[in-house]
Amino acid sequence: MTHAPLEKFYKKSLNERIQNLIDTSRIDAETVEQFKTSLLLSDDTANHMIENQIGTYQLPLGLGLNFVINDQIYDVPMATEEPSVIAAASFGAKTIKASGGFTTYQDQRLMVGQVALRNVSDPHDKKERVYEARERLIELAHQAHPSIVRRGGGVKAIDVRLIDENQVQGTPDFFIVHLLVDTSEAMGANMVNTMVEAIKDELELITGGDCLMGILSNYATENTVTSTCIIPPTLLSRAEIPGEEVRDRIVEANQFAIADPYRAVTHNKGIMNGIDAVVLATGNDTRAIAAGIHAFASRSGQYRALTNWYVDDQANLVGTITVPMAIGTVGGSISIHPGAQFAHSMLNKPTASELAGIIASVGLAQNFSALRALVTEGIQKGHMSLQAKSLAMVAGAKGKEIEAITKQLKQEPLMNLAVAEKLLKAYRDQ
Ligand code: NDP
Repeated sequence: MTHAPLEKFYKKSLNERIQNLIDTSRIDAETVEQFKTSLLLSDDTANHMIENQIGTYQLPLGLGLNFVINDQIYDVPMATEEPSVIAAASFGAKTIKASGGFTTYQDQRLMVGQVALRNVSDPHDKKERVYEARERLIELAHQAHPSIVRRGGGVKAIDVRLIDENQVQGTPDFFIVHLLVDTSEAMGANMVNTMVEAIKDELELITGGDCLMGILSNYATENTVTSTCIIPPTLLSRAEIPGEEVRDRIVEANQFAIADPYRAVTHNKGIMNGIDAVVLATGNDTRAIAAGIHAFASRSGQYRALTNWYVDDQANLVGTITVPMAIGTVGGSISIHPGAQFAHSMLNKPTASELAGIIASVGLAQNFSALRALVTEGIQKGHMSLQAKSLAMVAGAKGKEIEAITKQLKQEPLMNLAVAEKLLKAYRDQ
């Protein structure tokens, strides 16, 4: 469904924004208050989610706007504590929207489950025996979690990897069996763990080895998603720098992050600002995603940029990101956390594959905004103006004072807490 655009959303008050969402039929709450209440996590639910629960810890939830992904328009829920993340994502997405939006691609969603065995003699022969026993192993795995087969998923392949003691000094030989599992709409950690545990005994019989453990791998190399955007230089000029020059500087900035791990970590941190915020808002596992993505960034043996920016034969800037994206639309806390349920309904209940594409696109938009700012006016101008608001609040500003002190802070040559406190005192003494 296409809704009326959210004009000047950032300029509205909180209640006006929520009313705007109600008026444009994006949410079906009757009142602003009813909507706010609907996002609250009850003590009962929270208490059942974790152990030793004593309260709830809130984060701001905002909307990343202007996202056009595979010709669909999305307002993307993002949960983050960091100012400027949502502004940057929305700003980047706006330019990309003007040139047709993002295109995403995912060919498969398979999770890897590992069984590690030791003391396997004649491992090359045993590898063949495991492959010969493939059907039996798959049957055992499916018996342990039959419902995923009914849902069209299940084990799609078995792999054996031999890790020789000489590969990493001080470690023994490992005989590792991988199950590649289609987990359908779930992230699948629990179902994969159930399956790998169910084949441990059989693998010991086949290999004669000792099983050390069976566990999901968060290195989701068989579950990657790619998002791409193409931007003509006419949309890139900035701070009096011609579009072609901004384009070329962005390409070089990306090359810097491919070449130098010190830069790559910060480059990718910016991408994770967006990815993490959507993963969290949609009730997915941020640690699983972060671990997988950072390992993927190191797959060449050096930690590198997750993105690639280059110039195509039409002189356009092309940006692309490929990341492992082990997320789900069911399971874990997704079905019980009211904020996660809201996020999925705000995105029109995407499939897991669609959601993966949305998340990757937010990461790419975030990267585009950061690189464009870095190679033109610098990151601090936009960032500090948003940090000014946090500073005003830390200084003790309340209600209307926040806006007033933020405005004054932006005009100060030096922006820090002492200045914010001085301005607040002067404002109150007026
Ligand atoms: P769940 O254990 O909640 O399993 C999801 C369940 O959803 C399935 O077992 C399935 O049960 C049901 N389901 C309903 N509809 C579908 C559908 N269309 N496709 C697939 N399943 C469906 O969650 P996951 O197994 O996905 O595990 C994710 C959770 O595990 C996250 O909370 C994560 O934090 C946590 N975790 C992560 C680990 C890691 O990353 N290393 C390790 C351990 C846990 P049924 O078919 O029977 O209805």
